[in-house]
Amino acid sequence: MAVAEEKGTISIHTENIFPIIKRFLYSDHEIFLRELVSNAVDATQKLKKLAAIGEFNGELGDLKITVSLDEAAKTITVRDHGLGMTAEEIKKYINQIAFSGAREFVEKYKDKGEDQQIIGHFGLGFYSAFMVASQVEIITLSHQESAEAARWVSSGDTQFEITQTEKAERGTDIVLHIAEDSAEFLDKSRIRGILEKYSRFMPIEIEFDGKVINNPNPLWTKSPAELKDEDYLNFYKELYPFSEEPLFWIHLNVDYPFNLTGILYFPKVKNDLTMHKDKIQLYSRQVFITDEVKDVVPEFLMLLHGVLDSPDIPLNVSRSYLQADANVKKINSHITRKVADKLSELFRNDRAGFESKFDHIGLFVKYGMVADDKFYDKAKDFCLLKSVDSKYYTLNEYREYVQANQTDKDGSVVFLYTSDPGKQDTYIQSARKRSYDVLLLNGVLDSHFIGTLERKLEKTQLKRVDADVVEKLVDKGTAAESVLNEEEKTKLKELFEQTLNDKKLNISVESLPVDELPVTITLNEFMRRMKDMSQNGGGGMMMFGDFPMNYNVAVNANHPLTQKILGADQPEEQQRLVRHVYDLALLSQNMLIGAELTNFIQRTVELTK
Ligand code: ADP
Ligand code: MG
Repeated sequence: MAVAEEKGTISIHTENIFPIIKRFLYSDHEIFLRELVSNAVDATQKLKKLAAIGEFNGELGDLKITVSLDEAAKTITVRDHGLGMTAEEIKKYINQIAFSGAREFVEKYKDKGEDQQIIGHFGLGFYSAFMVASQVEIITLSHQESAEAARWVSSGDTQFEITQTEKAERGTDIVLHIAEDSAEFLDKSRIRGILEKYSRFMPIEIEFDGKVINNPNPLWTKSPAELKDEDYLNFYKELYPFSEEPLFWIHLNVDYPFNLTGILYFPKVKNDLTMHKDKIQLYSRQVFITDEVKDVVPEFLMLLHGVLDSPDIPLNVSRSYLQADANVKKINSHITRKVADKLSELFRNDRAGFESKFDHIGLFVKYGMVADDKFYDKAKDFCLLKSVDSKYYTLNEYREYVQANQTDKDGSVVFLYTSDPGKQDTYIQSARKRSYDVLLLNGVLDSHFIGTLERKLEKTQLKRVDADVVEKLVDKGTAAESVLNEEEKTKLKELFEQTLNDKKLNISVESLPVDELPVTITLNEFMRRMKDMSQNGGGGMMMFGDFPMNYNVAVNANHPLTQKILGADQPEEQQRLVRHVYDLALLSQNMLIGAELTNFIQRTVELTK
């Protein structure tokens, strides 16, 4: 069957399809190579399949794909030894299908703004060669018996030419004559870079510049049963050569109701949320698509590292469409569930190991619990609370542990916490004297986590240790004895009010234990959360911008120093003592600064002389 020389017009209506394609894919020109190499991979795999089912009985031979660059001739050639095409097939698959695919693409996107992100651009396929080439040649010999080699050439308009040619080996050469304005691609390191990015794990060996650039059998394509920890760790190193070892990993392997394989690694993140993002790579049948997986992976799992591979994720659609896609949603909840299962399994099988990793894992767990109710329901059984003395409890264990001593008069269990053990030490020590336990909640997400716990846990409150005087942190409704009578209390209160002369202070006289400070300054839990929120600029708190911060100043009626104040005979002496005990309270709350601090130091020097 001789190939008659033929010239023709490719049947598309849009004559100026090329400028449009160029414009739309401007930022992404390099994907032409991904498209051509993945076509070569497809052609090779199809041939292997035909051989496997007995429909091709010839020698498969070396199936390696080669990419070569000829700087002098200004060409890039992609050569495969796949199934090749007959002249008829070129007409069918290239002239009709590939070109009509391109036309559809342009019609779909021509009205969209250039800034609109289109992931992947799959579907443009072969045609994307014209983004960088002024002329494209296909020289191909079909695997079919007594097939004749054919050469197709087109120069980037809608004209093509097919002729008979000579080709010794089965398969296809795609030769790109690189256009003047795409000369950047006539550069070895550029081409190597593009291949390493998109073809790194393509399933057929790809050679460039004398070296194979890919790993055709990446770990995620293997069966988890045949893999050892070491394999996973080595693969992690291959992906992220400069990262610390991961904590553990999850091997995903689903084929129903959607296809998804991949390996997700839990890195050591501590309190740093930002530097770990954008580390998950998305593949479609081992072809790299993107490392922006924002819509495919739940936000709280974006901190994970690794690879996901799914042919079921639509790749040539816009972001907003992707979010609404049913498969993407399923993949999303599948990943969430798998992560929860893995964490739960680790917790159950190795509690000590889980605890030792919790400073890292805690961030994911809490992020997930805050962001996703379904995840919360699973994680509530393995999420750990850490106390200031580094003991770990599950939510239930902790409630049981503190219930007896930390239930208030309304039956609410009060969880006490510190956000900064160094700064809040005075308050922690006061709580300790009551045998109260104090949790350490000093992570970047803990303020949100605290809110979530209060919403979810019944009859439970969380209070920072400095939210009230220790008597009232857990208000048991039992009034303590006071050594002062009512008249003395009123006098003491007035003395403080006159001396401190600050309308923003709520001064009260309380009957506190003798071993508490003479004066304690606290900021009510609610007020403090408001303040924190407005400082973080979030939560629509702008309207509270000038919200007055009313500090509570509790004067300890039972402290010997307050009695000394009442008993002092000179008003100056009374004022000096009031100021001094108040400064001590400021000091313990890290609020003593500026002139007040200087005066305090002076006064203390005088007193100790
Ligand atoms: P797709 O790969 O999505 O089918 P393309 O535009 O990339 O679309 O390619 C169109 C068709 O051209 C392919 O389906 C295939 O039949 C044919 N083709 C392209 N490249 C090759 C090749 N290297 N070997 C054999 N056939 C090819
Ligand atoms: Mg293709």
